[in-house]
Amino acid sequence: MNPPSRDFRSHTPGYWPEATADEWNDWRWQLRHRITTLAKAEEHLRLTPTEREGLLLTAHKLAFAITPHYFNLIEADNPDCPIRRQVIPLAGEAVITPGEMADPCGEDGHMPVPGLVHRYPDRVLFLVTDRCASYCRYCTRSRVVSGVGEQELETDFEEIYAYLARHTEVRDVLLSGGDALLLSDNKLRAILTRLRAIPHIEFLRIGSRVPIFLPQRITPELCAMLKEFHPLWMSVHVNHPRELTTEVRDALGRLADAGIPLGNQSVLLAGVNDNPDTMRALIHKLLRCRVRPYYLYQCDLIHGSAHLRTSVAKGLEIIEALRGHTTGYAVPQYVIDAPGGGGKVPVSPGYVVYHDKEKVVLRNYEGRIFEYPEKPGAPSTLVRPETILDY
Ligand SMILES: *Cc1c(COP(=O)(O)O)cnc(C)c1O
Repeated sequence: MNPPSRDFRSHTPGYWPEATADEWNDWRWQLRHRITTLAKAEEHLRLTPTEREGLLLTAHKLAFAITPHYFNLIEADNPDCPIRRQVIPLAGEAVITPGEMADPCGEDGHMPVPGLVHRYPDRVLFLVTDRCASYCRYCTRSRVVSGVGEQELETDFEEIYAYLARHTEVRDVLLSGGDALLLSDNKLRAILTRLRAIPHIEFLRIGSRVPIFLPQRITPELCAMLKEFHPLWMSVHVNHPRELTTEVRDALGRLADAGIPLGNQSVLLAGVNDNPDTMRALIHKLLRCRVRPYYLYQCDLIHGSAHLRTSVAKGLEIIEALRGHTTGYAVPQYVIDAPGGGGKVPVSPGYVVYHDKEKVVLRNYEGRIFEYPEKPGAPSTLVRPETILDY
């Protein structure tokens, strides 16, 4: 059973009319034919002066690379194309505005071993590679990703396995990078095997944009291999409904058929998805691809990202337009990764209008007010001023 094909479309062959079907469907061919230079981008797109300037910066900052599959989604003559804004650099990337940081989530300060971020009590982020199939211009890890930035990722695999074996409180390991699915099946299998050999690690997950940038990588062989490591979950990264092509839908279907529960992490981006209609179309399409919208991130304060950030007020307005108005499974949790290393903090429209020892006053999605009586003897949840005094 496939979902109805309405709005899912292939953009093949697009800018690559000469490619054979075998070439096109080969993920290594896709990687070899990535668009990585200004000259190549300009063969197909009418670039603006600010895009041209942005492209010249990419030798020293975050590299520029787009797979043919994803490049085909870009409209040649529309500088406001929501796909284009995610992957074609603008001159604004060189402008560092107040508050922006090289490491906005404070990961480097939470690395007990190079390549392992241990911020939360029971779970860790394992950075297995610094390479991605294509590079998102708002990348929160641009300081180490793509191999041209200010730092190098020096993941110490053996030290990480030793750390995880010692730290029996870690029950959840999240593989990211870079993008773990760029590793060969054998390399990835070797990593997953080492993790599965640690008895207290219950839960594995992979954070990847490969199903979107490079759906050809999701081969039956890869899915069969991943299936051996269950429970294994995956978080993908889609920001705009047009990214869900027939190829991406089918790749996600193969992962879901392998029993891998799929979640999506979107980033709220100006001119890409910062309006309720786009976000509604996106989350509905995700459900049809068997992907549960997981997080909507406020864009991190990464160097040179001001032109892609939108207000928290807009994010709240979008959540408000979704919650209650559509399927609960479709509504992601909106979060801000607290600048400097506080981790993900949920932000929600105020549905609890008032709460004391006697009652909770609630506002529903239509704005109507309801009261729920508090259980006698319940502790007060009112925020006491002294808890925020030493901020
Ligand atoms: C996001 C993140 C995780 C996973 O967080 P969940 O809320 O469990 O998805 C773990 N470690 C780090 C450092 C993270 O940034």
